[in-house]
Amino acid sequence: MPDDCLFCKIANREIPSEFLYEDDNYVVFRDINPAAPVHLLLVPKTHIRSINDLEPVHESIVGGLFPIAAKMAKQEGVNESGYKLLFNVEKGGGQEIFHLHLHLLGGWQKK
Ligand code: AMP
Ligand code: ZN
Repeated sequence: MPDDCLFCKIANREIPSEFLYEDDNYVVFRDINPAAPVHLLLVPKTHIRSINDLEPVHESIVGGLFPIAAKMAKQEGVNESGYKLLFNVEKGGGQEIFHLHLHLLGGWQKK
């Protein structure tokens, strides 16, 4: 893991952060600069730079994000109203933190 990776530091508790969920492989916390009323980041503890860097051994780690997303959406009360799941990939795709993470965005007012 790179020394300067913010999400490794958060996942390792080197930087204090309030986790909404944690298990052996993942942490979930609120985005510091939310782009939606509910904006969570689902972060594997394993350092993977981006979707481009996935190796076969990472498949279960990435696959495991989706049931956690569904659980968190329910916990945040947006499962029925709906939400978006997003990976930004590399700079042109809007990625700023080069430690793979899944954005969960929701909570917009229903029309
Ligand atoms: P991305 O652009 O996909 O790399 O997403 C990185 C996200 O991390 C952005 O939405 C930032 O607002 C968010 N972020 C940056 N630093 C922190 C932090 N210390 N705690 C929580 N979220 C952060
Ligand atoms: Zn990292």
